[in-house]
Amino acid sequence: METELTTISCPYCGEHFEVQIDPSAGNHQYIEDCYVCCQPIMIHVTVSYDGSVEGVWVAQENE
Ligand SMILES: [Zn+2]
Repeated sequence: METELTTISCPYCGEHFEVQIDPSAGNHQYIEDCYVCCQPIMIHVTVSYDGSVEGVWVAQENE
C-alpha cells in the first residue's frame, strides 16, 4: 500500500502542512485535525483510474 504526501492549507488558520493520502481507498473523505489550530478539517480525496491521487481539497468540517 502506497501513500502520497500532499500539502494542504488549513481552511481555518491558513497554515500549510503535509498529510498522508491513501489512494488505495479510492475516492474518500476524512477528518484530520489541524496541527496548528486543532480544528477538524474535512479532507476530500479523488483518485484517478490508474490508482494515483488525482485531487485533494479541504473544507471546514461543519460545511
Ligand atoms: Zn489550522
